[in-house]
Amino acid sequence: MSSSAMSSSAMSSSAMSSTAMSSNVRALEPIRSLHAHSGRPDRAEVEAAVRTILQWTGDDPDRGGLIETPARVVRALEESFVGYHQDPTLVLQKSFDEIEGYDEMIVLRGVRFESHCEHHMAPILGRVWVAYVPTNRVVGISKLARVVEIYAKRLQIQEKLTAQIANTINDVLKPKGVAVVVKATHHCMTTRGIHKTDTDLVTSRMLGCFRDNPQLRQEFLGTTV
Ligand SMILES: [Zn+2]
Repeated sequence: MSSSAMSSSAMSSSAMSSTAMSSNVRALEPIRSLHAHSGRPDRAEVEAAVRTILQWTGDDPDRGGLIETPARVVRALEESFVGYHQDPTLVLQKSFDEIEGYDEMIVLRGVRFESHCEHHMAPILGRVWVAYVPTNRVVGISKLARVVEIYAKRLQIQEKLTAQIANTINDVLKPKGVAVVVKATHHCMTTRGIHKTDTDLVTSRMLGCFRDNPQLRQEFLGTTV
């Protein structure tokens, strides 16, 4: 491919992804109107639901300290679940193919994330290690962190989060292999329920050369300790 053809295609995908990602709010607008017709509750309804919960606790939702709480809770929920309105495959569209034949493992280590478990809506706090071996093209490292973030900002179980991150990178970049390790604490078992505060859960997904080559897998796992 000539370099001019390459840069023009890189530019058009860059323009596409920056339009899509530049503003969550802008991205939300069409989705909001879509949901308005598909039965998604509006903000006032969700605030009323939070008010109901406050009443149910035995407190008075009309006292000064609580009057703004429903609005604050809904804003926090919007932040926690913004990932439903973002497309992780778009994030990986812009890639670079001038890599001088680089064909070794690339590892992004210890990406912090905050998610919520789908069973209790309790926080899941952890870190993700993402590795891949490129086939001709690489992405900006921040894009790997964005993929983690988008899937984390949804209701999750850790196993699914792990698989989604690996599968998306594998499907879009088509690398020689992808490896993902997630280590996280689940507040549904550390601060409630069984109260095991010092436990964390480790999950992994190995695809392509990471699955086939034990030495490469060990090399990757060595970066996660
Ligand atoms: Zn849970």
